[in-house]
Amino acid sequence: MSSVTTGAPPLSQTLVNSLPDVNQAGTSTPTRAVASHWSVRTLLIWLVLACLLPGILGAVALFFYEYREGRAQLEKDTIQTARALVQAVDNQILQAQALAEGLASADSLAEGELAKFHEQARRTLAESHLGITVVLADRLGQQILNAAENFGASLPPYGAADIANRVFETGEPAVSNLYRGRVLKRPLIAVAVPVTQEGKVIYALAISVLPERFNGILSTQGLPPGWVATILDGKGTIVARSRAAEEYVGQKPADAFLRQFMESDEGVMEATMKDGVPVISAYSRSAVTNWRVAISIPRDSLSDQLVRRLFLLALGVSALFAIGIGLAWLMGGRIAGSFRGLVRPAAAVGAGEKFVAPPATVREADELAKAMARAADLLQERTARLQDINRSLIEKERELNEAHSLAKFGSWHWDLQTAEVIASDSIRELCGRDIPPFAEQRGTLLTVESWERAAEAVRHVAETGGFDLDVEVNHGSGGTLWINAKGAAIRDAAGRVVALRGTVLDITDRKRAETEIQRLNAELEQQVQERTAELRRANDALLHTNAELQHFAHATAHDLQTPLRSIAGFTHLVQQEVHGRVDRRVDEWSALVIDNTKRLQDLIQALLTYTRLDVLGRPFERVDARKVFDEVAASLAVLIGETGAEVSCGELPTVAADRTQLAQVLQKLVENGIKYNKSEPPRVTVDCSRQEDDWVFSVADNGIGIDPRHHERIFEIFRRLHSYSQVPGTGIGLALCRRIVERHGGRMWVESAPGQGSVFYFSLPVSTDVAATPTAG
Ligand code: ADP
Repeated sequence: MSSVTTGAPPLSQTLVNSLPDVNQAGTSTPTRAVASHWSVRTLLIWLVLACLLPGILGAVALFFYEYREGRAQLEKDTIQTARALVQAVDNQILQAQALAEGLASADSLAEGELAKFHEQARRTLAESHLGITVVLADRLGQQILNAAENFGASLPPYGAADIANRVFETGEPAVSNLYRGRVLKRPLIAVAVPVTQEGKVIYALAISVLPERFNGILSTQGLPPGWVATILDGKGTIVARSRAAEEYVGQKPADAFLRQFMESDEGVMEATMKDGVPVISAYSRSAVTNWRVAISIPRDSLSDQLVRRLFLLALGVSALFAIGIGLAWLMGGRIAGSFRGLVRPAAAVGAGEKFVAPPATVREADELAKAMARAADLLQERTARLQDINRSLIEKERELNEAHSLAKFGSWHWDLQTAEVIASDSIRELCGRDIPPFAEQRGTLLTVESWERAAEAVRHVAETGGFDLDVEVNHGSGGTLWINAKGAAIRDAAGRVVALRGTVLDITDRKRAETEIQRLNAELEQQVQERTAELRRANDALLHTNAELQHFAHATAHDLQTPLRSIAGFTHLVQQEVHGRVDRRVDEWSALVIDNTKRLQDLIQALLTYTRLDVLGRPFERVDARKVFDEVAASLAVLIGETGAEVSCGELPTVAADRTQLAQVLQKLVENGIKYNKSEPPRVTVDCSRQEDDWVFSVADNGIGIDPRHHERIFEIFRRLHSYSQVPGTGIGLALCRRIVERHGGRMWVESAPGQGSVFYFSLPVSTDVAATPTAG
């Protein structure tokens, strides 16, 4: 039972071929996630970034929002400024208009004294500093008077004839666009009012104002550097400009610029100025003059502002990042250092050394170090305990090996896939040799017959699940031994047998003992047969002798009866013959002879009955014990009458018995109950109960009782506890009763004590089979 090799094809091949290819199974390599390890520093930097980033994004968003809001506000403010400028310009115009209207209502004019009016106009101009000249034009647009020229000088047609015309047409004041004064030869703006006489416009009176006057308005606004305020007349000609006015006044702005100005009364636009500067312009139109004031802000100044603020923001953010990352770097270094410090002590613990906690600046690292120290202590403790266990395991294994050797026991494992057999040392020791492959065990390790049986058992192991065999082994030293080999199949998940595992036990002693027992049994059987034959012969002889003895006793008793009867008869005759004539003692002696003869006769009769019990016995029949009792009581009527005894009886069953003999037993027991009784009155009670398969009869009395020492002796023949003179009797009665009961298959016994009365028991088997045969006695 050791190994499987290719040398045993029918057995191992079948099993091996049915096995799964174990090399196919379980070869899948589990995919493992590659763990990435981040340093504490990296994590903290990420944390800082994660914390700062939302704030920064928010700040940038806020920044752009503010920028947009700021720009919208700026546009609004600039429009406001433009409006204010429009009002200031309107004011100037209205002042000029008021001045003109004042002059128009001058008396000198109404009286036609133009020279006087000329002088008055010059004076008013000088006082007001508002206009540069005063012109009086007629309906044809001809200058009648010009304060800039001496009165009476010839004057060219009026340069702003268009507004003079409008005044004549509408009778309302009008404001000119920029025009070139023909007298002063320079750009001017005229505010004209009608001069009426008797409800008719006779002149158009205009006060000419220098554009520079409007430059003054612009310059007082204190615009930020780079900003340009421009005043445009109703045709879009530049009237005044806060910067480089001399260069631009009288010119038109860029076309795109102009188009937009003219399209709406108020607004903001982006455009490029003539000098190529991209600007944002806010403009507003005057309802009085239809002029427009535009304030242009170079776009660069706005983006500069934006860039500057962005730069500041970026600077702040960078600083924050730098501080945050720097702190994270520092903190990370400290944390990492605290944890890195634990690496070496932990490695030391692995090498079995003591854990020495390094100083830690981080509380968690300190707690970890403490926990590691505790764990290291526990580890050492466990290791020590494990070593103890290991030692005791080695000891136990050694003991087990010893026990195996002592018990001549071994275990083995047979891997059917590799055909490898692993056997315990004790098996080799047991067999006194190496264990060859199974195929080679035939006739070598195992006897041929044992090998064949083992092979057969292994062949069917898939169905049986195992085997239990006694096989004969050829010991290495030459002798043979018997071993009991037990094997169990080991199956894979699919239920195929992949290995066998089992034990062997040296049962040589048991086998030898069994052989010895078989030999002794055979011998014993022989002896028993011989003894039985002898006994049978002896029994036959005994029966023969018994029969002869019975015959002899019967004959003897019979022969004795006759002379005894003669002795008694003749003694009686002698007694009658000599009565009164001889000595009285002869009478007494004769009576004694007769009495003893009678006693002898009784004894012989009883003996005869005892010896011929079987001969006289009859087959059993169904007997009503109650009836038997009644008959017994009737036959004892005289004794009962004489003694005044009370004999009673309980419920009695019907039994299978010899009726006469049952009556004999009951009669003897009731009679003894009355006879050995001094109570007044003597009481005897017969009863019966069922106990398992027996009827147990009891005959109880209130008599003298029997010492327990004699409970068995009284059933022996001729055993009497009283002398004949005390209580007459033969000493055969109870012996006869017991024999009768035993012949019925029952037993008899007594329970009694002196002065306590006695209870005699006898059992009879409960038998439904009435024809139960009597027991040979
Ligand atoms: P015997 O003819 O003497 O009565 P038994 O065999 O009937 O012979 O009794 C044997 C002895 O057992 C008696 O001598 C008596 O001493 C004792 N014996 C039997 N029955 C009783 C009883 N009911 N009470 C007391 N003693 C008894």
